[in-house]
Amino acid sequence: MPTIFADVSLALQQNSPLFLALCVLLGLMLGSFLNVLIHRLPKIMQREWQHNCLELQGQTAPATPAYNLIRPGSQCPHCQHPLGVLENIPLLSYLALKGRCRHCLGKISPRYPNVELLCGALLGLAGWQFGYSSHMLFASALSLTLIALAFIDLDTQLLPDCLTLPLLWLGLLFNLNRGFTDLNSAVIGAVAGYLMLWTVYWLFKLCTGKEGMGYGDFKLLAALGAWFGWQMLATIILLSSLLAAAIGIMLIAAGQRGRDSTIPFGPFLAIAGLTVLFLGPHLHGVAGLN
Ligand SMILES: [Zn+2]
Repeated sequence: MPTIFADVSLALQQNSPLFLALCVLLGLMLGSFLNVLIHRLPKIMQREWQHNCLELQGQTAPATPAYNLIRPGSQCPHCQHPLGVLENIPLLSYLALKGRCRHCLGKISPRYPNVELLCGALLGLAGWQFGYSSHMLFASALSLTLIALAFIDLDTQLLPDCLTLPLLWLGLLFNLNRGFTDLNSAVIGAVAGYLMLWTVYWLFKLCTGKEGMGYGDFKLLAALGAWFGWQMLATIILLSSLLAAAIGIMLIAAGQRGRDSTIPFGPFLAIAGLTVLFLGPHLHGVAGLN
């Protein structure tokens, strides 16, 4: 038996097509779970807030059926029909059912297979770039968390602490052994990342009386600082701001948004984080740093 494990391990280490295929497959499956997380986490948080508010008012919250990341099982968003195993296969179920619920024929958002595809592609890319290594595992965890944060922010304008803070701690832990940068750069990156956007927020608020971004954005940039070090912060801010400005102008020009409307900044920070993760070595010096 040990020789089988040794053979499998060797095959994976050689960055074989088998290894890359396994990475993509794992990405598709985790993408399916990410769809549940993106949909349910804001609702779970809202329930908790309502529960806490009632408790503060001295009232007892009414008993409600369990609602978490596991229960109830996956169901159709229109008719709440529980989905069977065959209807839960990432990507294939959507294609086989032609994007419609089997029971009520309600349209299923193409975002579900798109998130799965994105996760499959990113894990494949992580496998290809970092090979069979701990770097691949950490890069995958970072990629998936950034995808979840981007979509939750798009939907709800929230960047949950229960994702941003563990992401920050994980970045620091990874860099204990010089993952993407040294520990000093990571710690300074986390502090500086938070302070940079905190300063922008207060300057903007003092000048305009409006809130330009939320505290979740500070924590997300702090997390990216913890992963990549303070040297990459300027690049991340430059990339995300340029992208946000370009998309904002396009949306206003297309008449989709007014000049005063806000667009969440988290997705742009996430895209900048993914760009640095996969193109990091080629981006050094983009912002005149490092
Ligand atoms: Zn249905």
